[in-house]
Amino acid sequence: AFEYAPAPESRAVVDIRSSYGLFVDGAFSAASDDGSFKTVNPATEEVLAEVAEATEADVDRAVRAARRAQDKVWGPMPGRERAKYLFRIARLLAERSREFAVLETLDNGKPIRESRDVDVPTAAAHFFYYAGWADKLEHAGYGADPRPHGVAAQVIPWNFPLLMLAWKIAPALATGNTVVLKPAETTPLTALLFADVLRQAELPPGVVNIVTGAGATGAALVGHPGIDKVAFTGSTAVGKRIAREIAGSRKHATLELGGKAANIVFDDAPIDQAVEGIVNGIFFNQGQVCCAGSRLLVQETIAEELVERLKSRLGTLRVGDPMDKNTDVGAINSSQQLARITELTEAGVAEGATRWSPACDLPSSGYWFAPTLFTGVSAAHRIAREEIFGPVLSVLTFRTPAEAVAKANNTPYGLSAGIWTEKGSRILWMADRLRAGVVWSNTFNRFDPTSPFGGYKESGYGREGGRHGLASYLIEGSTY
Ligand code: NAD
Repeated sequence: AFEYAPAPESRAVVDIRSSYGLFVDGAFSAASDDGSFKTVNPATEEVLAEVAEATEADVDRAVRAARRAQDKVWGPMPGRERAKYLFRIARLLAERSREFAVLETLDNGKPIRESRDVDVPTAAAHFFYYAGWADKLEHAGYGADPRPHGVAAQVIPWNFPLLMLAWKIAPALATGNTVVLKPAETTPLTALLFADVLRQAELPPGVVNIVTGAGATGAALVGHPGIDKVAFTGSTAVGKRIAREIAGSRKHATLELGGKAANIVFDDAPIDQAVEGIVNGIFFNQGQVCCAGSRLLVQETIAEELVERLKSRLGTLRVGDPMDKNTDVGAINSSQQLARITELTEAGVAEGATRWSPACDLPSSGYWFAPTLFTGVSAAHRIAREEIFGPVLSVLTFRTPAEAVAKANNTPYGLSAGIWTEKGSRILWMADRLRAGVVWSNTFNRFDPTSPFGGYKESGYGREGGRHGLASYLIEGSTY
C-alpha cells in the first residue's frame, strides 16, 4: 500500500502519496497499531500526507533488522563493496534532486532556492565524500582495521531534514554500521523518499531503517537495549535528557545541539560583503539554523552605518511562497516554532530592546514571521542569551577585539562564530580565543562534507563531517 510510483512526466515533479509507512527491513509497512500522524505544508497549513507513527514494537522490529543486517551482511562486507552502494545512493540523490528539493520545500517551508542549491546537493556530496572513505578506513587515523560500533540510532531535527539524514547515514554506512533513523515529526517526507532511493540502489534490507513518529518514538529508539551508538541532533533540552538516559550504558553518543552564534564585524571589514554575510547568517532557512549568526557584534565606530545598511537590505528581502524561485525567506516550520519566536521577540520588547522589521505583506494562511532586527540589546536580554531559531537578529556592540571575544563567548553555547575583518592576523587571534566548534571568516553558513562540524559546551560533543566524522562511528575513534 505504501509503494512509490515514479511521477509521470505530465504530473507534478514529485508524487506525494496520501499515506506513508515505516521503512523496516527493506519494506514499507503500517505501524503495529495502525497509528499515524499528519504532516502539513507550513506555508499553507494544508495536510500533505498521513504518516505511520512507530510504536515500541516497530522500533524493536527495526533494531532487530538492523542487527541482523550488521551481523550477516554489512559488517562482513569489504569496504570497497560498501563504497559502491554509497556512490550509487549519491548518484541517485543527484539524479532525483528536483523531487527531493520540491518535497523538502513543501514539508519544511524553506525557499526552493535553498533546497535546490544547498540542502539536496550537499546531502548528495556527503554520500560521495564518505563513499570515498569506505575502502580507506585504515588511513583514517584509528588503526589498521578500525571496527564499527554495530547498530546506530539516529534522531534528527526538522530544519535540514535530508541534509541531517545525510550527515548521519553516510558516515555510519561507510564505517560498516547499520542504522535506525528517526526523522522529525514535522518533516518526515524526504526521509521516506530517501528510503525509495535505497531500494533503487538495492541496499540490502535492514542496513537502513526509517521509523517515523514523535519524541516518544525517538525515546524508544535511543533507549532500546540493542543500540550501540546514538547520534542525536536537536535541542539542548532533549540532548541532555538523552545523555542522562544512556549514562552508564554501553551506548556511545554524539550530540549536536543548539547555538547562539556571534557574527563579529570589525570596522575594517568589507562592508557590502559583511551585510550579505550577516543577512545570510540569520535569514537563511528563516534563521532556523543551529549555527545561525543570531548575535551581531559590531564595532562601535561603524554600528550606526552598518545597522542602516542592514535595514535597507532587509527591505529588499522577498518573504513568501517557498516554491517561488525568487523567495528569500520562506515559512516557519510549525505553529509551535512560530509561537516560540513570537514569545521571545515579545520578551525582547518588554526588556527594553528596540524592534524593527521592514514592511512586508505576510500570507494569510501558514506560519510566517517577518525578518526582525533588534537594536539596544544588552547581554542580559533573553534575545541575546536564548536560541530563538527564527529570523531575528540581535545587535550588540564592542570596542576592542578582546571585548568582542569576551562577549562572543558569553553564552552557554559554542557551536559557531563569524569574523569580518581585512586583517589575517586578527582572524587567527580571534579564532584561537573563540569557544566555537566552527569559525568562519569573511563568510558564514558554509558547509562542506570535508569539514568537521560540532560544538563546545551546551552545543554538544562529537564532530560530524570530514575525517573526524568517521571517528564517532568507529570503536577505536570514539571517546564518548
Ligand atoms: P528537538 O530536540 O525538539 O527534536 C529533535 C528530534 O528529537 C526530533 O526528531 C524529535 O522527535 C526527537 N525527540 C524529541 N524528544 C525526544 C526524546 N525524549 N528522546 C529522543 N528523541 C526525541 O529539536 P527540534 O526542535 O526538532 O530542532 C531544533 C533544535 O535542533 C535547535 O535547538 C537546533 O539548534 C538544533 N540543531 C542542532 C544542529 C547541530 O548540528 N548542532 C543542527 C540542526 C539543529
